[in-house]
Amino acid sequence: MSQILKHQKTCVVIGASHAGVNFAFALRREGWEGAIILFDADPELPYHRPPLSKAYLTGDDEIDKNLLKSAESYQRDNIALKLGVSVSRIDRKEKKIVLHDGSIQAYDKLVIATGARPIMPVIPGTTTARNLFPLRTAAHVSEIRARIKSGSVTKVVVIGGGYIGLETAASLRKLGADVTVLEREERILSRVTAPEMSVFFQRLHAQHQVDVLTSKNVVSIETNSEFNEVVCADGDRFKADMIIVGVGIHVNMEIAKKAGLSIKDGIQVDASARTNDEHIYAIGDCTFHYNPHYNRFIRLESVQNAVDQAKVAAAAICDKQPIYNSIPWFWSDQYDIKLQMVGLSQGYNQVLVRKDPENEKSFSVWYFKDDSLLAVDAINNAKAYVYGTKFIKSGEKLDKSKLSDLSVEFKPTNLVSE
Ligand code: FAD
Repeated sequence: MSQILKHQKTCVVIGASHAGVNFAFALRREGWEGAIILFDADPELPYHRPPLSKAYLTGDDEIDKNLLKSAESYQRDNIALKLGVSVSRIDRKEKKIVLHDGSIQAYDKLVIATGARPIMPVIPGTTTARNLFPLRTAAHVSEIRARIKSGSVTKVVVIGGGYIGLETAASLRKLGADVTVLEREERILSRVTAPEMSVFFQRLHAQHQVDVLTSKNVVSIETNSEFNEVVCADGDRFKADMIIVGVGIHVNMEIAKKAGLSIKDGIQVDASARTNDEHIYAIGDCTFHYNPHYNRFIRLESVQNAVDQAKVAAAAICDKQPIYNSIPWFWSDQYDIKLQMVGLSQGYNQVLVRKDPENEKSFSVWYFKDDSLLAVDAINNAKAYVYGTKFIKSGEKLDKSKLSDLSVEFKPTNLVSE
């Protein structure tokens, strides 16, 4: 890459994770010749986040085996990476950002990729609890792993039965811990899946001796010299050497808000990932964006969205006219189960389950709103995930009776309505 010349422009990115890093490399590929400067508060070279609750948690690898890009790649593409640097303020009038130490960086284009941080419940005892961790960063996982592996921790309570809580429970169980999951709602994964899926995962954990308890609203944590006790509203108490908190995220949008950018359930962007300031874009978990497939604005916590918006923003900055038009997809690994999800199930009024009674660890759940397929959850069933993606994209109407009839061979031509 040739040297950056003085008159060339500068693109500054706040946040160097899935969205920010993919954006920086995509911007180079699109032909941006000016400077690209990535800032991140995390001191580690940017890494993959999904393995943190899965293989990285159970393995022995250091974080440098789990990097988004090698250190050399940044050098090769002339991307400046400023790690351990937090950005405090955006000055839109002067087109500059202010760093935590007061120093200043000017920009021609600014990309906000600040993602999210874990919610810590506001209940008594969280600040005095021993070994209490959220799970979002490599530093969190290093601490958790070290304590489990040293044998100083055997009993873990996971607060929150969402994907991160459940994956963490499965991984800690694999490491030999005695794990209990406490979920406030009446069923786990209630925000994102049908009851059939909640029952399946609850049973799966029970088969691995993990207690997943629902309707357990944690109201305080009491800690003495030997252990913590997690206390629920119904009076139940659970002893724990370690507590993992997985109750959702807060979007990191404070600096965008202070700068006067349009904010809803995230930083609002258009189909090119542009904010209401023509020089500022936002991508990834921090955005509230329009999805044409579902005809509404949404916020997503997924690698797919971070990567797709990164590409769209890079193209837009290089004067192309890209439109964000992706169908959301996501995955989760727990024990020997690979769950793949495509689409958004919210608003469904019918669920069809295609399940072979001979093989209860491979099935698919199809979510419909009337005749429209909204989403598919596929358990150890890559075909269902691929067909679901195809049908959501094409909008073809499906013959529901054939879909749930196991005597009909499972292939796309058999499933479409005549
Ligand atoms: P983030 O990854 O949150 O990165 C934002 C970055 O911005 C951070 O590095 C942060 O330090 C930095 N930052 C924030 N504010 C500032 C500031 N003011 N100054 C400087 N830097 C700042 N998704 C999937 O699709 N599949 C999965 O299986 C999956 N599993 C997951 C498991 C875990 C344990 C976690 C935590 C997440 C998982 N996700 C998964 C979600 C996925 O990791 C996120 O959707 C993705 O990381 C979003 O990327 P992002 O770049 O938008 O935000």
